[in-house]
Amino acid sequence: MSSRAKLVRDVRVLTTGDGLVHHEHVYGTRKPELVWIFFGRRWVRLPIHVYLIDHVDAVVLFDTGQDRAVVTDPDYWPDPITGFFFRHVFRDIRIGPDDTLPAQLDKAGYAASQVDIAVISHLHSDHVGGIADIPQAQLYAGAQGFDFMRESDHPERATVFRGRIELPGARWNMIDFAPTDDPALAPFTEAFDLLGDGTLIVLPTPGHLPGSVSLLVRRDHVPPLLLVGDLCYDEQLLEADQVPAVCHDPDQLLDSYAKVRALQAHTPGLLVLTAHDPHAADKLRATARTGPR
Ligand SMILES: [Zn+2]
Repeated sequence: MSSRAKLVRDVRVLTTGDGLVHHEHVYGTRKPELVWIFFGRRWVRLPIHVYLIDHVDAVVLFDTGQDRAVVTDPDYWPDPITGFFFRHVFRDIRIGPDDTLPAQLDKAGYAASQVDIAVISHLHSDHVGGIADIPQAQLYAGAQGFDFMRESDHPERATVFRGRIELPGARWNMIDFAPTDDPALAPFTEAFDLLGDGTLIVLPTPGHLPGSVSLLVRRDHVPPLLLVGDLCYDEQLLEADQVPAVCHDPDQLLDSYAKVRALQAHTPGLLVLTAHDPHAADKLRATARTGPR
């Protein structure tokens, strides 16, 4: 473990803007989807995060944020129905010129061209939006998520797949999980050791979308992190077993929740960080101050 301090040098949260989503989207509802999407009146503003891991061997991103074109390009959604639907799910998106992935990386002291790897939690547009800015990077995603988006006839998914995921030259890799009996990862029985040194472990956490993944970041001297994408929108939902309204498979999500809670129970200090947690930067700063463990 002592060598890990030198391996993961820093973890940062970058924010590629924010937007309003329905209260139901985050906290769940029994109302039918079209009812809360078109008639819901309570909105919650959520940031759109990217996590940057400065590892001695690679600059790694977890997710890539939302492409600013969604606010600058009237043709971002190529057909009007998809655009109309999307604007009722995700409203008043604010992404300024300083909020793009390259601008946020620059502010943190990195060039977009320095990014070696991006692990994509799942293939929604606000997680794949920066991949065009890092064409040199190896991209990793869950194979089931890729198949789901590729084969879908859902207009939003098909549009996102063709326009934002299947980019010419994008270096996609399907995550190849291997069986594991490592008690430190229990109850997960499959994992992918991204760099082969035990510091960055990709874990399958499906439910929000098929093939969704999380990234365990193991550092010395400071508590480990679990970066979870949209597994939940904040940690309290995970603790309360509360399923958001935007969820592909609630049973699968609850199973992923239970696994993450079990991992937390035997991993002292494990901090779960989501892609849309408004307090992520404060939480990350607090763990950095926790000191030797
Ligand atoms: Zn999502």
